[in-house]
Amino acid sequence: MPLNPIRHPMAIAAGQLDRGLRRRLAADLRTALVRGELTLHYQPRVRLRDGETTGAEALLRWHHARRGSVPPAAFIPVAEGSDLIVALGGWVLRQVATAAAARPWLGRVSVNVSARQILSRALPGQVEAALAESGLPAERLELELTETLALQEGPEVAAMLARLRDRGIAIALDDFGSGYASIGRLRRLPFTTLKLDHSLIAYLPGQAADLAVLRAVRDLGHALGLRLVAEGVERPEQRDLLAGLGFDEAQGYLFGGPVPVDALVPDALPGLAP
Ligand code: C2E
Ligand code: CA
Ligand code: CA
Ligand code: CA
Repeated sequence: MPLNPIRHPMAIAAGQLDRGLRRRLAADLRTALVRGELTLHYQPRVRLRDGETTGAEALLRWHHARRGSVPPAAFIPVAEGSDLIVALGGWVLRQVATAAAARPWLGRVSVNVSARQILSRALPGQVEAALAESGLPAERLELELTETLALQEGPEVAAMLARLRDRGIAIALDDFGSGYASIGRLRRLPFTTLKLDHSLIAYLPGQAADLAVLRAVRDLGHALGLRLVAEGVERPEQRDLLAGLGFDEAQGYLFGGPVPVDALVPDALPGLAP
């Protein structure tokens, strides 16, 4: 018998949804935007050298009227099952650009982009609309792409991303080291930034072999001219180790979890208070 996800919120959290629930969530998601159930939280990113905030990653939150909080691991895949993710992605870009334009101290804001948004060819138009409406300089926007089918697409995808990068927008490869071999893609696509998956950080300080992997990733990344960002940094020893290895930036509960937009004041962000 399938889990009743209302009694078993862990099933929702893990995204193990039966087809009926998937369909209901997809239908609810379509109205969630209109009903104001979707919001964005922002997690700070800091420079390891001096602990200053360099920016923040936008992360979607859904407060469902009946089910309560539904995690992105459950509803993003549902949205990605249709063109809903394209509209949702456009909405996220406009929200984030507007929030960032009003907060010049925030630095660069990062937005997660789905493969389908790229494949639909909607992305460049969505980005330009968000920048034009908000007045946000292109240099203050970063797009985070995960290892997906889209990245295996042909030269059009690479050209589209190169045009965005040439506009000044940062392009990050997200979840690097989480599974698939992505070293080839690093050269083929015009990334500016590499985000190391938290699974590479979780067991640090760890053993000599863990450090050897990190050194190799550091050397590869810097040889390719990439900014190296570690995700899931939770403990001071991890921060110190990554700083010692020469990683550029970090993100994680140690510096602060995702917070609502109103909490993005200089006093509450690492290193920004006068
Ligand atoms: P992600 O892009 O890898 O985002 C990082 C996830 O790690 C976030 O989970 C964040 O809350 C969590 N995290 C932050 N600090 C720590 C830490 O110190 N330790 C650990 N263990 N985890 C940490 P969240 O918010 O649940 O988001 C899950 C995923 O949903 C994201 O993974 C991203 O792939 C997707 N997502 C979220 N918002 C959007 C969006 O607007 N568009 C798209 N396409 N995907 C999104
Ligand atoms: Ca991300
Ligand atoms: Ca990630
Ligand atoms: Ca501060």
